Amino acid sequence: MKIILFGPQTSGKGTQAKILKDKLSIPHISTGDIFRENIEKKTPLGLKVKSILDEGNLVDDNTTTEIIKNRLEQEDCKNGFILDGFPRNINQAEALESFAKIDHAIEIAITDEEAIQRLSNRRFCSTCQHIYNLYTVPKPKDAKLCDFDNSPLIQRDDDQPSAIKKRLSIYHEQTAPLKEFYQEKKILHMIIGKQPIESVTKDILAVLK
Ligand code: AMP
Repeated sequence: MKIILFGPQTSGKGTQAKILKDKLSIPHISTGDIFRENIEKKTPLGLKVKSILDEGNLVDDNTTTEIIKNRLEQEDCKNGFILDGFPRNINQAEALESFAKIDHAIEIAITDEEAIQRLSNRRFCSTCQHIYNLYTVPKPKDAKLCDFDNSPLIQRDDDQPSAIKKRLSIYHEQTAPLKEFYQEKKILHMIIGKQPIESVTKDILAVLK
């Protein structure tokens, strides 16, 4: 079961990938998470990509593809995987074809208005990194504090308004063409993202059957 999840920022692909990972017993691989971990640990890769992420731009295709290629060679990927945030453009999708045969490409669709609303309300805990949204349920009990450890909730640098606009326009220009790419391969499924989390999961599981 080799699955790609894509959709505009905050469509819920990260949330769904985490749920599917447990249900399907295959790893969840998020390029955004890999970059953020490296930034946090100040590795050479992290230092190289920090300003790119902060500004809402894409990391270059060679760097990103190399990371995914190495990750997919690991033992835990032999029965499948869920890719979240990769590929992000046709160039990456073509590169992926050369080292993995994807079974399902799932687009979680939401409108730009919905994405902007969700992005500008996204917060994360400065200590445990738990992600909240002040707009969608479940909300934190206090809009400023983490439910688990009472640490302040902060906004990701790339969730600031200027970066949000850039990320959405990059999505339309570069990532949305993946629909046609996977449609032609007859493995595209479109799921409505503006539904409760459990309903989105149910719709995804239905198309994977
Ligand atoms: P995400 O958490 O998926 O929204 O990714 C956060 C940021 O990581 C993006 O805005 C990009 O800067 C970078 N990134 C994640 N995945 C990719 C990718 N496949 N190609 C290039 N840059 C990426």
